[in-house]
Amino acid sequence: MSDYLEGLNPPQRAAVEQMEGPMIIIAGAGSGKTRVLTYRIAHLLKNGVDSFQILSLTFTNKAAREMKERIGAVVGQSEAKNLWMGTFHSVFARILRSEADKLGYPSSFTIYDSQDTVRLMNSIIKEMGLSKEQYKSKAILSRISQFKNNLITVKAYRNNPELIEADTMAMRPQMGAIYKEYVDRCFKAGAMDFDDLLLRTNELLVRFPDVLSKYQDRFRYVMVDEYQDTNHSQYLIVRALADRFQNICVVGDDSQSIYAFRGANINNILNFQKDYPDVKTFKLEQNYRSTSNIVEAANSLIEKNKTRLDKTIFTANDEGGKIKIMRTLSDGEEGRWVANSIFENAMNLQKTYDDFAILYRTNAQSRAMEDALRKKGIKYKIFGGLSFYQRKEIKDLLAYLRVLINPNDEEALKRIINYPARGIGETTMDKLAVAANHYNKSLFEIISNIEKTDIKIQGPTKTKLNNFATLIQSLQISAQAHNAFEVADEVVKRVGLIKDLQVDGTPEAVSRVENVQELLNGMKDFIEERKEQDLDSSLTAFLEDVALASTFDNKDEDDTPMVSLMTIHLAKGLEFPYVYIVGMEETLFPSAMSVNTRSELEEERRLFYVALTRAETQCYLSFAHTRYRWGKLIDCEPSRFLEEIDERYIEHLAPQRNKVVANRFVDSGLFGDDDDIPKDRIRFRKPVTRSVRNQETPEKKTPFKQPQNLKKVTPKLAQQLGASKPTQKLAVGNKVSHAKFGVGQVLQLEGVGVNIKAEVKFESVGTKKILLQFAKLNIL
Ligand code: ATP
Ligand code: MG
Repeated sequence: MSDYLEGLNPPQRAAVEQMEGPMIIIAGAGSGKTRVLTYRIAHLLKNGVDSFQILSLTFTNKAAREMKERIGAVVGQSEAKNLWMGTFHSVFARILRSEADKLGYPSSFTIYDSQDTVRLMNSIIKEMGLSKEQYKSKAILSRISQFKNNLITVKAYRNNPELIEADTMAMRPQMGAIYKEYVDRCFKAGAMDFDDLLLRTNELLVRFPDVLSKYQDRFRYVMVDEYQDTNHSQYLIVRALADRFQNICVVGDDSQSIYAFRGANINNILNFQKDYPDVKTFKLEQNYRSTSNIVEAANSLIEKNKTRLDKTIFTANDEGGKIKIMRTLSDGEEGRWVANSIFENAMNLQKTYDDFAILYRTNAQSRAMEDALRKKGIKYKIFGGLSFYQRKEIKDLLAYLRVLINPNDEEALKRIINYPARGIGETTMDKLAVAANHYNKSLFEIISNIEKTDIKIQGPTKTKLNNFATLIQSLQISAQAHNAFEVADEVVKRVGLIKDLQVDGTPEAVSRVENVQELLNGMKDFIEERKEQDLDSSLTAFLEDVALASTFDNKDEDDTPMVSLMTIHLAKGLEFPYVYIVGMEETLFPSAMSVNTRSELEEERRLFYVALTRAETQCYLSFAHTRYRWGKLIDCEPSRFLEEIDERYIEHLAPQRNKVVANRFVDSGLFGDDDDIPKDRIRFRKPVTRSVRNQETPEKKTPFKQPQNLKKVTPKLAQQLGASKPTQKLAVGNKVSHAKFGVGQVLQLEGVGVNIKAEVKFESVGTKKILLQFAKLNIL
């Protein structure tokens, strides 16, 4: 028996040893699905399968790197390097590069990131003379993304009256024309957006049977991790590639499907059996990742979802600590509490910072966490989101490099044509855009052939354009003879990028200069690393690496242990000993946009399940009572999800200071006379929040908003705050009597739990709203 197989339990081992034919593993979090894939690949290699013939699709490139590393430990690193392993986007970008000419693309095609596509969409909407309000770029782009992920081409769209009608009803009758223009412009610019990487791969496999055949033959073994989050386009690619040998192994967990909003289709997992009638199904039921408290807490939560496959998950691990819930007054205090807690845990338990992760629902939440960590001197890294490569000065330099590689790259060109300022203004750009359209040429082709066009541009501006074209062309020539780093260095010097920043002299400009320098350092490392591995180290390869890395995940910058910060969406598949899930508040998590239908709410709940199950040893949940959102201070209420975890697995931490008083939950004005509220129950005093907040976060000058009544104070929380449970069961229509107002009739009931309010029409004083928690109403 080979010893690597000893690290597997019997069902895992059975799955690893099943080498041929279609198979599926649907199992809960932490049960070893990814581990099975890793070992299975090692096992195939050990049994003589050629490493070039294995295609393994992962959720992040980081996951792929880690898997390769582990496989390498079994079969040797040089063998592991040959595996085709990575995200759908990175693997198929690589394949498209070598086949691009068949689709009419240059092999050095650019990959547009989300900022590029927004810029392009903005100009299309402007040029088509459409209203920005009616045609919101991001909304249009997400619609186009939907089309592409479902393989609805421009032509298919035009032949689909239902789609056209839907868009007309949605007040965007020009959708089809915009879609066409967008596709044409990307194509003309030699650029693909992220969805194109999949759409064009599908196109390639459908239109060129010989190409399909080549890759079917190459990839005799196909594996997909996180299969529950594949979209239609990805599904078709996998199906086509695995069609010849049918050696396809997919693993996933329907309870962790969290990308429906981006087109992920849970049916891919549910229909796998139909697609492959010979499929072998494996079940994994033991969780190895987390303490039993965490596993049971997560089980008790996900049970609340109606749509899910029946699965059991247990663990033989220790019980561990309960899940700890912390409430704080503000998001700033939440950040400080998290930073302190991490600091103390690291000290007391002798942990390093990479044992900790902070997870949040939305990217914007990172700010409070980052501020607190920085102040405490704790190193951290942000996965995804606005990382290094998204910073303006970095994007500027990258745009120059992109234009050198592909001068037709319109978005990059627009970014740099007047940066640093060369007096080429918007009017000129508009004229150039019209000419590009008219002659059906790219912007750069027009700029470099301006004399041959009838475009009306004044002499001095023409000179500026000529100078720009000459600059780019001479840099291009130089680029042919130098490596990526040398080219970038030359661009920085000749274009004067750093000089432009240094003139400024502000601390911000200094940090930008450092960033530019850091990019050059990065290029050097990249070249060295690639050369060592005998891989492509060209500028094109570098830019591709950046485009993919900056969107999907960050590489660790160095070996210093750092706390990981990321959205829950990005945390899928990962694990950390200590996990802090912050911002557990209604309208934030679950998100305000996802509480209108059961299916949306269930997706949010799955997201919370994913978050909880990332923790190995200890999980903390926190929420704040006030928070800045959209630039305003708002009051928050605790997330309903806190209530949904079985109490047995929960421990409420006492706030360390600034105790929240119950009067924050009562807006006395709403409920008639103060007499309705027995004063002995609640300590009345001026809202503490104002002074505390101002004192703690002096930078925020927004006037304090009068705390509003929180609509859903959950019974558990109310109890904790010292309020008692409502004793009465009232119904609309009941006749009631009140000590002060006398007899009346209940007109309406609203709210839940301790927060139920009754609207009562009293014979003596007319209609009043009564909070049942505090009013003495007797049913007659
Ligand atoms: P997720 O659903 O979150 O992606 P998963 O099912 O892919 O989880 P893995 O990440 O493969 O689970 O495994 C979870 C943890 O349990 C890992 O640290 C893994 O090494 C460990 N593990 C899995 N199986 C075993 C085993 N048989 N013995 C020891 N450790 C194991
Ligand atoms: Mg996994």
